[in-house]
Amino acid sequence: MSSNGNGKVPTGWAQDRVYIFDTTLRDGEQSPGFGLDGEAKLLFAKQLEQLGVDVIEAGFPISSPGDFEACRTIAREVRGPMITALARAVNADIEAVWGAIGDAERPQIHIVLSASDIHIQRKLGLTRSEVIRRGVNAVQFARNLCAEVEYSPEDAGRADRDYLVETVEAMLDAGATAINIPDTTGYCLPNEFGGLIEYVVSNVRHPERAIFSVHCHNDLGLATANTMAGIMGGARRVECTVNGIGERAGNTSLEEIVMLLKVRQGMLGLEHAIDTTQIVPTSLMLTELTGVGVQPNKAIVGANAFAHASGIHQDGVLKDRLNYEIMKPEDVGLDDNRIVLTARSGRHAFRHRLNMLGLTVPEDRMQEAWAGFLRLADARKEVTDADLRTLMA
Ligand SMILES: [Zn+2]
Repeated sequence: MSSNGNGKVPTGWAQDRVYIFDTTLRDGEQSPGFGLDGEAKLLFAKQLEQLGVDVIEAGFPISSPGDFEACRTIAREVRGPMITALARAVNADIEAVWGAIGDAERPQIHIVLSASDIHIQRKLGLTRSEVIRRGVNAVQFARNLCAEVEYSPEDAGRADRDYLVETVEAMLDAGATAINIPDTTGYCLPNEFGGLIEYVVSNVRHPERAIFSVHCHNDLGLATANTMAGIMGGARRVECTVNGIGERAGNTSLEEIVMLLKVRQGMLGLEHAIDTTQIVPTSLMLTELTGVGVQPNKAIVGANAFAHASGIHQDGVLKDRLNYEIMKPEDVGLDDNRIVLTARSGRHAFRHRLNMLGLTVPEDRMQEAWAGFLRLADARKEVTDADLRTLMA
């Protein structure tokens, strides 16, 4: 067996590719301080399309009429990625999802229902077999509406392994086309979680019927490590968010997992379809839309991620970047440790670059400067420092 595990994917999915499922607009957006209106969600979904994600989870349609509408607009206007939205295992939720995303080019209904004994007993007050029956009914109901149905056994990270296998088999028999194993509480160790994925993938009777996915949380700082372990255990789809936003301490960060696949491609041998030069513009757009920035030392997208401050490091990098850089700033959309300005850069990046160039714009002239920048950015692909100086003059 190679280092990348024995990933099982159904016909039509590439075995040696990791599919990126972005849930910034669902798991991310539902966390405190990250709420977005429909217009902002559409703008961000279009940027995710530019980034090249395979799946966009647009929201949780039953939660509010506003979110239902936002999901519907995204499903109608975004082309390329599969569009999915979340439902609990009840018909009303599933109907709401279908009403919202049925018009998508490639819709998928995502159903979540608990699998750990803690959740089954203390949250649902049901027995294990009642939960499976409820899940099967939901998957069958959803499959009558939609060709693609994802099933997530919630809190799988703390569930009994054999009950999990039994659950997954029942959902595959009911017609699920994607199985997502979540470490909902961010509890697992990497070897434990990777082992769990490998156990499930190799013990269910027909793993080839579905794509296996993972969804990890960062409560103990292990979301990216656990996701990577899940990939090595055989998962070929990963649920993640831009800037790692999400419930509590957040989700696996998209940029971290994608750059891991890229930087360690030689070791992992796995492909992905992300245009990595869109990573920083996407991160900045999210910051702009939510008003919440990332910590400066955040991997990949933090302001210091490619900055070299100490004299020893600066000297080493100037002699040869390889001394201290394992990836090139340009690869994530930074130009020589700076941000590439395009029509999609957003005001934050625009201001940031003006500051770096020492070009001060009075607040009451900012709108005019921004409009001028947008005209310029529309006219050419990239706006250079020289362009900005001319514009400001
Ligand atoms: Zn989650």
